[in-house]
Parts: sequence; C-alpha cells; structure tokens
Amino acid sequence: MKFWIHTYGCQMNVRDSEAVEAMLTAAGHVKAENEDEAGLVIVNSCTVRQKAEEKAIGKAGNLIAARKLTGLMGCAVKRLGADVFKRLPGLDFAVAPRVFGLIPKIVAELESGARRRILELGDELVPGAMQAHAQSGFQAFVTVLLGCDNRCSYCIVPDVRGHEYSRPAKEILAEIEALARRGVSEVTLLGQSVLRYGIRNPAWENGAGEAFPRLLRAIAEIDGIERIRFTSAHPGGVTDALLEVYRDCPQVCRHIHLPVQSGSDRILREMGRRYTREEYLAAVRRLRALDPEFAVTTDVIVGYPGETREDFEATRSLMDEAGFDNSFIFKYSPRPGTRSALLPDDVSTEEKERRDQILLADQERRGLERNSRLVGTVRDVLAEGPSKRRAERWSGRDGGNRIVVWDAAEQKPQPGGKLALRIREAHPQILVGEPV
Ligand code: SAH
Ligand code: SF4
Repeated sequence: MKFWIHTYGCQMNVRDSEAVEAMLTAAGHVKAENEDEAGLVIVNSCTVRQKAEEKAIGKAGNLIAARKLTGLMGCAVKRLGADVFKRLPGLDFAVAPRVFGLIPKIVAELESGARRRILELGDELVPGAMQAHAQSGFQAFVTVLLGCDNRCSYCIVPDVRGHEYSRPAKEILAEIEALARRGVSEVTLLGQSVLRYGIRNPAWENGAGEAFPRLLRAIAEIDGIERIRFTSAHPGGVTDALLEVYRDCPQVCRHIHLPVQSGSDRILREMGRRYTREEYLAAVRRLRALDPEFAVTTDVIVGYPGETREDFEATRSLMDEAGFDNSFIFKYSPRPGTRSALLPDDVSTEEKERRDQILLADQERRGLERNSRLVGTVRDVLAEGPSKRRAERWSGRDGGNRIVVWDAAEQKPQPGGKLALRIREAHPQILVGEPV
C-alpha cells in the first residue's frame, strides 16, 4: 500500500515517523510521492500545547473525510486514550508513542479485515523499532533517552511519553556504526533531558565515568562520524566531564539547546526546573569560556500563571545576559493533568502575545549581534542543498547549527560535502559566506 506520514511536534516525533517509514517500507509498502496518491496516511501528533494537538486532530479529521485509511500516532493518542475515537469517529487506528513499532502489524490486520478501530496504548518497546532507519541523507536522529521523569509543572510530556529510560550504550553504538556504514556522517542524539542519560537506569555494562560524556566519546571514535549533536540539555548536566568532551572531541558540535523557560527565580521554582537563574547563567558562562562562539539556543514560555511584568523583565534580561544565538518562544498553554493546570491561567491572551512579540524582536537584534561577530571568520560547513528561500543559493550549517548560505554558482557540493566559507554578511537567522 502507498503511505504518507504527516509529522507535528518535536524532533522526537520526526525520528519516530522516520522509523515507521522504514518499518512500513521493510514490510513491502511504498512511500507515496504525496498525500493525494497515498491510500494510508498516518498523522504523528503533538500535545505539548493545545493548539498543537488541535492541528493534528484537525488534519486527521480531513483525511478521514477524504476516505483515506487513517492512523494517528504520537503524544495526543496517549493523552486522549479511548476518547480518540470520540474525537475522530472514522479513525482506523491510534498508537501511543512507545509502541509505534506495532504499526506494520496493525496495517496488515486492517488490510486483511481481521480487526478494525485498533487502539494501542502500551509502554513496552517493540523490539527493533528504535533501530529502524529510513534510507536518507547524511544526517540521522538517534533516540538515546525515552520519556521523562522531571515533571516540570506545565509539561504533559511525562504523561504521554512515559518514564525516563536510557537505551543501552551498546545498542546505540551498534546502531550508529550501521548508520556510518550507510554514509551517515552527522548524528543527533535525542532525549527530553538527554544529559540524564544513564542516570535512572544504567546504560553501560560497567559503570566507569559519566554515562553521557562517555557515550559522546565512544561515538566520536566511530569511523565516518564527523558531527555529533544532541538535544535537549539541562544546566545540571553541564559538568566538567561534558566540558572535557567538548575540549577533546572536535566531532562534538559546539552548540547546546538549553531550554531556560524563564529568567525569574520565583517562576523557575514554581515550574520545578531545578536550577536558579544564576546556575543557568553559570552553565552558559562555562561553555562560552571554552569557546566564545559556542552557540547556545533556548526555549522560553511567556505567560506562565502569575507571571508578572517583573518576572517577564527578568526573562528578558536573562536572555540578553546569556546572549542566545536563537530562541523559541512559546505562549503558555494549560495541559490537563499537569500541576500548573490547577492554577488560574491569568495572563491574558493579548498580554502573552505582546510578551511573545517583545522576545521575538529582542532575539532578532541579539541574533544579528551574535552573528555579526562572525563576519570575516572562516566556518566549516556541511552542505545541505539549495536554500529554501533563494534557489540560486546553496545552504548548509556550521558546527554551531548556524545556517550559512553561499552562491551556488561558486560551489555545489553533494549534501554532506564539507566546505570552508568566509563569512561576509550577517543576518539575525543566517550567515552569508563565500568558499575560500
Ligand atoms: N524536554 C524538553 C522540552 C520538551 S517540550 C526540555 O525539558 O527541555 C518543548 C518546549 O515546549 C519546552 O521547552 C517548553 O518551552 C514548551 N512547553 C512545554 N509545555 C508547555 C506548555 N504547557 N505551554 C507552553 N509551552 C510549553
Ligand atoms: Fe517536560 Fe520538563 Fe521533562 Fe522537558 S524536562 S519534557 S519540560 S517535564
């Protein structure tokens, strides 16, 4: 059967969809050219904010109306449980995040008419599912840590993605070795709080050293792996051992996604983030002491219950002090079952919007400032392909995950091809360079 997968949400969902694609292909199904020609369409859903969930449910509703065989996977399934069929009466199947590995079997059952309206909500990983990778370019995502036990007050992720579980290092290393043999040179390790790798359950057979830094070192040893990225990080994990890895292993990219959420100590405490403003800034300073161009990006929530103007100004000043290279701003959305959903959602929609716009404008200015420092320097870039905005330009990324574009007439390397670019222009979100 021809299939198509629509993915909403985070990189973890992107990764899960890619694994489903690989498994369906292995089962003899064919990825369609587009949604229209597909007989089976799967929507991979997000539920971290209400709007995200509504988008995925709306999309699935449209597909059902278009009489496609329709499945829903991902975080909204776990949240809704059996109610998913009330929201989407014509849905053929729904599968929770940890058991997406059941999808090929479910599709076979639907095709044979053996079962209908299948719901799988389990937490037991399906053997082999985590390791399934679709044939694709030089970059790959590898999930190393599943679930989350942090229970930040606003966050639904622990309810829908389950307990924190670190995959065995041996299994991850074998997976990356196989990817490298297939031509993958850049891997991104995924986990909700990835620096907690190996803390809740042991990841290594013998326990020497901090599990995550050790994993990075072992991956850096694999032939063909030129870049190692990971996301998301927590300031508590910015330890000496991690800094030593950055110092010793050029493969480990000098970019960290370090969600801060707020710059107000009072709000951070209420959120249960387990760091203070000062601890967070100290972690950033340690990284920048190692390399002033260390790229630091973040997530911020505006309009958390009770967030005053002073709290918001504290967030603004923290963002300047940290000098974020990029930031993702989210308007607070109460999620059922979370601790903060019990508090009044008392910052108005207009005020959330206003705070959002202020932080976006600040980031434009800050992004330009940060990027301007790189004008005249030479950046090592891995090519990705034609630029989305202007096809006469080619685009790639430097180690800091900064997008660098250049004139395609000068050089058009294969995706994954390495080149050195001298930066001649800086913009808030991109750099323009020329091959040296
Ligand atoms: N595991 C990651 C975050 C996963 S959710 C971490 O801890 O860093 C991605 C981002 O969505 C969060 O960093 C947060 O900024 C935002 N987010 C999560 N819950 C939210 C909510 N209820 N309302 C608004 N934004 C939210
Ligand atoms: Fe959510 Fe906090 Fe876990 Fe991140 S660390 S997934 S924000 S509970």
